Amino acid sequence: MAFSALQREQFAQKIWEQELDLLVIGGGVTGCGIALDAASRGLKVALLEKTDFAWGTSSRSTKLVHGGLRYLKQLEVALVREVGLERAVAYHNAPHIVRPEKMLLPIVEGGSLGKTMSSIGLWVYDFLAGVQKEERRKMLSAEETIVAEPLLRTDILNGGGLYYEYRTDDARLTIEIAKTAHKFGATLLNYAPVTAFIYENGKICGAHFTDLISGQTHQCKAKKVVNAAGPWVDGVRKLDVQDPAHARPPKRLHLTKGVHVVVPRERLPLRQSAYFDVLKDGRMIFAIPRGKVTYIGTTDTNYKGSTEHPVCTKEDVDYVLAAANYMFPTVKLSPADVVSTWAGLRPLIHEEGKDPSELSRKDEIFHSSTGLISIAGGKLTGYRKMAERIVNDVCKQLGQNTACRTEKMPLGGGDFDSEAAMQKYLETRYGEVSQIGLKAEHINDLFFKYGRQTDTIIERAFELYPHEENPIRRLQMAEAWYCIHHEMSCTLNDYLIRRSGRLYFERQTLGNLFPDAAEDMSVILGWPEEKKYRELAAFKREFDEVISFKENAGEKDLKEASAKD
Ligand code: FAD
Repeated sequence: MAFSALQREQFAQKIWEQELDLLVIGGGVTGCGIALDAASRGLKVALLEKTDFAWGTSSRSTKLVHGGLRYLKQLEVALVREVGLERAVAYHNAPHIVRPEKMLLPIVEGGSLGKTMSSIGLWVYDFLAGVQKEERRKMLSAEETIVAEPLLRTDILNGGGLYYEYRTDDARLTIEIAKTAHKFGATLLNYAPVTAFIYENGKICGAHFTDLISGQTHQCKAKKVVNAAGPWVDGVRKLDVQDPAHARPPKRLHLTKGVHVVVPRERLPLRQSAYFDVLKDGRMIFAIPRGKVTYIGTTDTNYKGSTEHPVCTKEDVDYVLAAANYMFPTVKLSPADVVSTWAGLRPLIHEEGKDPSELSRKDEIFHSSTGLISIAGGKLTGYRKMAERIVNDVCKQLGQNTACRTEKMPLGGGDFDSEAAMQKYLETRYGEVSQIGLKAEHINDLFFKYGRQTDTIIERAFELYPHEENPIRRLQMAEAWYCIHHEMSCTLNDYLIRRSGRLYFERQTLGNLFPDAAEDMSVILGWPEEKKYRELAAFKREFDEVISFKENAGEKDLKEASAKD
């Protein structure tokens, strides 16, 4: 059965009619990783997601598969080693969405690290992650650093370091993990919040959930339940009413908000990504060129507002732009340059008296007296190891002795042995599509999202839409078709925000495209006119929201400030 939005009812039925070994709550990277690990070990698994896969933090990160250089400063050596090693695994399994990214670390007067400490830090970073010789760090003099990045300010520059990280699309990584879990027999359903637990002799043995698309409520039976609800982990723990500690567990979450600001690439035309000091508070932020834009971030501020709707405020934008303008003084970015933004919440574990940036990024597992297993904290990059730990725990409790199989498991569309094999695939496709009026850039656009699955999109474009004369439009129609039939896209937001990443990275051209996309989806999903208008309105809200700091900045700041008090 394909991972299709048109099969939702069958998926829901499969979830309620069998007794599961494992029910996973939450369809972010953590939950999907757990579902994949467990299903590939042969467990009967279901995953319920209250909104869409990757709708939470897993579509709003810095989109780096990285070891976290700054955690070295906090002496989190084990964490840096684990996620550092995981970078190579993620790249190997999904080379189309985890791409090597050269990163420049300018060393400046008053910055976090001096020349010697940067050199040692980057060496340790490479060493812990077992980085290949050709990708190891290279230290630069001030003159060489300016050649590497002419936009840098020179008056405080002492040198630089060039090293490698990996860039990704967090939401696409999550959806490919979900699709691979589905291939191994897991049943995953989006728009299906868990609303209550079912108990037998004081132990959780299942849950109630609602299918928000059909409006039906169901219950399912499961031997084990894992709560991987990210920033909502404490909310799900509160549903565990037979656990005496449910209302106030001994360890709780500490949410911090991080925003990213997107500007046209020509307004910040960096030669490579940069990781630089914000001198006023000792933090560091990234500036990452991607396609036609460069995005900058992130912030790290305590957050007590609505978890459903964190937004990027004027204050956030000012902070990020001031930092970029200080380090790259000739660009003079202003809020008018910002074309998109996003804001995400870090589900960190609270530690008394610590500031947001000092809180550990390590994951922790909590067991309730009723058998609920909750996991919080961690990084996108470490999702596979987090999943391995949880599933080892679950298997032990189930009395099963199975080993993790995900280390060398290609994710959807990523089964390439080498960069050369990928290049060969691309070149063959460039040749084929040039005969039908398409260019290499159109193939690249699809390939670095869907990998080898690009073939299905091209085939469907010509099979299903022969009446459409414009080949680019045909591809767009087929992409929407693919995201519905193979990626469980149920709404326009699923498609335009999380499957195709267009809202954040292509917002400037999206104004013309989104009404067509709504029409394409409504034909396939059989939406009545009224539903189509609701979808358009829901997308338009998101479309406006990402730059809402420009109009009603004062009001938004006020709302968030009062929530903080
Ligand atoms: P989420 O992605 O939030 O998923 C939890 C899901 O649970 C949500 O989709 C939610 O809808 C669902 N849910 C909640 N309640 C219920 C319910 N009752 N029933 C069903 N479902 C429910 N990590 C990196 O490795 N690299 C980075 O570059 C990076 N940058 C970051 C930048 C920022 C600003 C932030 C905030 C984080 C960053 N991280 C990064 C960390 C990383 O993004 C997170 O660790 C990771 O995405 C968390 O995933 P998750 O699955 O645990 O949570």
